[in-house]
This record gives sequence, structure tokens and C-alpha cells, in this order.
Amino acid sequence: MTKLYNIKNLTRHNLREWMNKKAKTKTQVQAFRADQIFYWLYQQRVGSFAEMHNLGKGMRKLLEENFWISSLKKSEKLHSRDGSIKYRLLLEDGKNIESVFMPHTSHNTVCISSQVGCGMGCDFCMTGTMGLVRNLKTSEIIDQVLAVSEDLPAGKKLRNIVFMGMGEPFHNYQNLMQALEILTDEHGFNFSQRRITVSTSGLLPKIRRFGKENIKPNLAISLNGVTDEIRSRLMPVNNAYNLEQLMKVCREFPLESRRRITFEYILIRDLTDSIEDAKGLIRLLHGLKFKINLIPYNSDPRNKYQAPSQKQARKFQKYLLDHDVVAPLRISKGQDIHGACGQLVVTEKQRSQVGEKNKTIANVMEC
Ligand code: SAH
Ligand code: SF4
Repeated sequence: MTKLYNIKNLTRHNLREWMNKKAKTKTQVQAFRADQIFYWLYQQRVGSFAEMHNLGKGMRKLLEENFWISSLKKSEKLHSRDGSIKYRLLLEDGKNIESVFMPHTSHNTVCISSQVGCGMGCDFCMTGTMGLVRNLKTSEIIDQVLAVSEDLPAGKKLRNIVFMGMGEPFHNYQNLMQALEILTDEHGFNFSQRRITVSTSGLLPKIRRFGKENIKPNLAISLNGVTDEIRSRLMPVNNAYNLEQLMKVCREFPLESRRRITFEYILIRDLTDSIEDAKGLIRLLHGLKFKINLIPYNSDPRNKYQAPSQKQARKFQKYLLDHDVVAPLRISKGQDIHGACGQLVVTEKQRSQVGEKNKTIANVMEC
């Protein structure tokens, strides 16, 4: 018997190619079928080929003989008072990842993972302590969006997707790009490229490559330090690609009009939160089209770093605003459940807690 292949690992282009090879009829007819299948998978979101009514018996049988349709089981769901929800999602091999739903007054955002764990080893990040367990498949990336969407109340939709969950997206480049293709495909999810943000710790060769792609979501870079000394201490990637090299690549990054690079900057008490650092930040980014997301450090008893005082965080932000730098301060709310930015970590104990649902907790997070 043929081993079934998960159809969600195929872009529409891949599916069309497969159909052209398999079927003996004309190319245009098969291309049209791939459009229809995508419509059923990503717009109607059906779970079986039998539900794809307009496909014809022969085609449905061919699909059933060759493919299966995946979905992710929600192993845990944590609700916050502010409406955010953290999902722990069970993968086929028993591993778990986390995705976060974040409602805003005018729109809804989902924060998704690109890897199980992360191999970049940033010193402040709990996900980093897991090391890289494995890359997510294309299907596992897009199934996160489907799993979160299906819980939305009728009439509500996701507008934004941010790749700021577990993992370094550019370390899983090919699957990331395939997922972006399906997410932005007009016959697939049809998300606007402008509503998707990919965040990287700074893998320069991949940033360059990303700049040349046809699909152009927003780029965010985790900066977190304004000198090589501090940034290398926090993020080992800086030893491979230092700040001067990073800034050169950012200056050369092709940006369409009215688009900017987002720099994420964590405020860590007595390490990155001084006015000297704010001055350094302005100097470093001078000449770029950018905005800064200031993230007060989400402290964790398992880590040595401390959150800044609220007063210092405000002072830092004010300095930037006074110098005409756009710098929203992202107030994190989820330290108690280790769910805020960069805090997504799945321990062995948590992995075995499959089945716990709908816990109400004080806070989740806002990435
Ligand atoms: N790996 C990618 C995307 C996921 S991390 C990246 O590093 O860009 C998402 C964001 O969370 C990053 O900007 C990271 O700097 C931030 N982050 C990690 N740990 C954090 C913590 N403890 N407190 C606040 N932000 C944190
Ligand atoms: Fe990985 Fe990003 Fe965490 Fe660094 S901050 S360890 S790159 S998830």
C-alpha cells in the first residue's frame, strides 16, 4: 500500500505539479482542481476529501489513495482575563508546541512557532533552554493558524500572524517559505503579506535571501543590545554576525514604500535599560526605516535577568519618543505561566499533561 502524504505540506504549485504527473487530462483542468482543493482545505477548512463536493468521485478517490489531511490536537488551553489564549498543540510524534491568540480592539493576532525548541541559545530566553528539538513541517506551521482560528467566535477572523513563538524561523527557511506561500495564496488562507511578521535573531544570509523573495511579509529583528559586548553576551548569534554586519544587511534590505523593519529590544534591568543604551539605539539605527518594539524583560525564577522598573522603562521610552523614534512599550502580562514573549517552553512534565483544558488563569501574554 502507498504511504499517504500529508497534503498540507504541498503548496498549490506543488499540488498542481503532482496532478499534472498523475492525471492524463489537460494541464488547465488540473490546475483548476488544485485551486478547488485549496479552497476546500483553507477556506472551507474541511477535514476529509469526501467533503470536497465539486471534485468528482474519481478525483476524490485519487486523493484518498495518496494523501491525508492533518490537524493539531489542543492538549492545553490557557485563558487570560484580557482575552488572550495560549494553546499547547500536540504534534504527530508526541511533541508539543505553543501558539498564542491575542485579541486587540480592532483586530486579532496569532503568534506561532516555527520549531520545537530553538537552537540559538539566547541567554535570556526560556525557549532557548530546550535546545533545538526539531524543525516544524510546513503543515505544522499552518495547522497552528487553523487550530486557533477554529476557536474564534462566529464572525471573528484572524488578521495578523507573527512568527514570534518557539523557534528561529530562518533556521527552518524552506518550510517557513512554503508556509508563507500557502498563508498568502489567494486560493489558500489569503492573508495579506503586510499582516504577517517574521521575527529573527539575525541570521544574516537568510535575511539577505528573504529580501529577494516574491512573498514579502514584515521583517522583525531581535536586537536586544546596542554594543557587540552586550549583544554577544545575550545572543550567541552575534558572535557569528556582529552589529556592524547586521546593520549593513538592514540598510541594504529592500523595503517597499511605507514599510519599515521592526527592531525588538528587550529592556533588562541594569543591563540594557539605561539612557546610554537608548542613545546607542538611536545612533545604531540612524538612517534606517524602522520602528522599535520595547519589551520589558519577562523574568523567570530559572533565569538570572531581571525586569526593568516601570519607571525606568517609561524613561527609556520617553527618551526615544523625544527623539522622534516610534517605540511602543509592549507590556507583557504572562510571567506567571511562562507564556510571554520568548517564554514558550515545553517541559517533559508539561508534555505529559495532554488533555487538560480550559484553565482560567490570571494572565497570559501580549507579545
Ligand atoms: N526566534 C525569533 C522569534 C521568537 S522569539 C527571534 O528571536 O526573533 C520572540 C521575541 O521574544 C524575541 O524578540 C525575543 O528577543 C523576545 N524574548 C525572548 N525571551 C524574552 C523574555 N524573557 N522577555 C521578553 N522578551 C523575550
Ligand atoms: Fe531562539 Fe528567539 Fe529565544 Fe533566541 S530569542 S533562543 S532565537 S526563540
